[in-house]
Amino acid sequence: MLKLGPRKKIDPNKIPKRSQPQPAHCGFCQKKIPRPKPDCRFSSTLVGTCSHCGAWFIDDSTGKLGGEAWVVGLTLVAGPGGQAMQMREGIDFEQCMLAYDSRRHEVDPHRDAKRYGVGRMWYFRALDANHAPAV
Ligand SMILES: [Zn+2]
Repeated sequence: MLKLGPRKKIDPNKIPKRSQPQPAHCGFCQKKIPRPKPDCRFSSTLVGTCSHCGAWFIDDSTGKLGGEAWVVGLTLVAGPGGQAMQMREGIDFEQCMLAYDSRRHEVDPHRDAKRYGVGRMWYFRALDANHAPAV
């Protein structure tokens, strides 16, 4: 009789996730997004909006925008005359980010976008009174 060794259990959480760049898409609804464009309100920052769910996205391909991305994101979500600095995450808006390569216009959901120096795309979306996406 053939003797089999103990079967190794594979823990899916321990398999290293491979880098898998994908065409840039929205961090919330996963629909493809166009390249971000310059916006005269924010000097050199490139921004865009998801035509599907209305989320705003902000190009941070240097990975160094940090607090500036928040200011731009909240200003965009609040809209003209909105109280950007009084918006509360999870109540008035939600935010996420993905690793982003601006030259290829690709995102990589498996890469840690929070690591220092990683190019990233920030996403901001307004929530309505029930904390659901407003669009
Ligand atoms: Zn979207």
